Amino acid sequence: MVTVRLAHETDFAGFRHAARRLAAHAVPPADVVWRVGEAAGDLLSADEPLPPPIAAERELRVPRLFVPLAEAVVCHSSPDRFALLYRILTRFFVEPRLLQIATDPDVSAARRMEKSIGRDVHKMHAFVRFRAVPTDEGERFVAWFEPEHFIEERAAPFFRDRFAPMHWTILTPRVAIVWDTETLAFGPGGRREDVPGEDATEDLWRTYYANIFNPARLKVKAMTAEMPKKYWRNLPEAALIPSLIAGAERRAAGMIAAAPTLPPAYHDRIRIRDGERIEAMADTEATDLDRVREEAAGCRRCPLYANATQTVFGEGPQAADVMFVGEQPGDREDLVGRPFVGPAGQVFDEAVTEAGIDRARCYVTNAVKHFKFEPRGKRRLHKKPNGGEIEACRWWLAKEITLVQPRLIVGLGGTALQSLLDRPVKITEMRGQFLEFRDGLTVFATVHPSFLLRLPDPEMKRLERARFVDDLKRVAERIAEMAA
Ligand code: SF4
Repeated sequence: MVTVRLAHETDFAGFRHAARRLAAHAVPPADVVWRVGEAAGDLLSADEPLPPPIAAERELRVPRLFVPLAEAVVCHSSPDRFALLYRILTRFFVEPRLLQIATDPDVSAARRMEKSIGRDVHKMHAFVRFRAVPTDEGERFVAWFEPEHFIEERAAPFFRDRFAPMHWTILTPRVAIVWDTETLAFGPGGRREDVPGEDATEDLWRTYYANIFNPARLKVKAMTAEMPKKYWRNLPEAALIPSLIAGAERRAAGMIAAAPTLPPAYHDRIRIRDGERIEAMADTEATDLDRVREEAAGCRRCPLYANATQTVFGEGPQAADVMFVGEQPGDREDLVGRPFVGPAGQVFDEAVTEAGIDRARCYVTNAVKHFKFEPRGKRRLHKKPNGGEIEACRWWLAKEITLVQPRLIVGLGGTALQSLLDRPVKITEMRGQFLEFRDGLTVFATVHPSFLLRLPDPEMKRLERARFVDDLKRVAERIAEMAA
């Protein structure tokens, strides 16, 4: 029996080092005991000498996708996580494509843990509330949070980027995350009592929450699933929830009574013409994404909101395995309020159907959520969003990715890929490639369907359309592999 001592709960480097050594000596998973946080010493202690190293031809080849998966799984609170990862690792000797077998019990257990980590990180991002503490050196901010898993280090960069100019500390039972506007540091955890009670910012939170609360979209079950009651005691706005729920029916009735009259005639004609097709794409789930969609409806992060009709947020099942990301809504989408319902959307629909992809099972969105255009007489001509607008709107795309957690993202065109990869890209160089994305996601690069509409030559159009369908067929194959 071999005992492995890891330095701390999320000691990925220690796990990797030990697992490599153990696998190289063909130590069976059943002969390894994984311990965390015990006295320092040799990483490995064996009751008996390790077996001789295995032959070079049986050298272990670890799929690239395993690393981000393992980095997430080590953050899970399950005491079995290291044993599970080592078992998967040793199986790569004989099953190099193991990770593609979603139904395999080990793989599906690891994927469940990875998803659970993603959810926990999201909850931390959403539910940390800072309290202001005056000190001799100025105002400091402190928050308390109790994550389910060991996710503090994973969640911390979000707060560093979001609250860069503030001095803040987030305390959890295990870790204190400290940001002094320059350095992110981690220390021992604390207690809830270490964080001061109410401060002036709580009133702001309550006012904000009461204002964004939409009684017409209230779904109590979905709301409590997204915001479990255990987090309420840290949320100043939670005190308002019972009264807002109690008054929701009355307020919604008031909203209906005060609703505007008919929509503009052109808008109405579009609705009638596209009605059936658009209705078929209606939301299939209404939980976290609905809340973010509501927030995005009032977005003012860049100037594009000013001239567009409305925010066009993504749509599709929240549990979708595949996400398609386009550039921005077009004229039709801007009026209807849904992505990919205009002429390019029709090209897209026909091509995905031909490739054997069920659009209803995919999440479809855009890198930029407001229509950018140039007025030309009565027409509004599409204008490409600039780098700043793409950057500003990445905020919403990142939220969609976090909530949907797709396993494959298809970037349609240069703007989508620039947003996803966070750098300008040449679609001609990337087209047809499956690119590794952060957190184990894969991005597939292809053109935007509007590219096909712009081609003047019919023969060229036919050839390029066939190429686009071929790209989508490769996506369909990958979807089938993921489901296998
Ligand atoms: S384009 Fe995106 S970032 Fe800009 S205002 Fe619209 S939703 Fe906000």
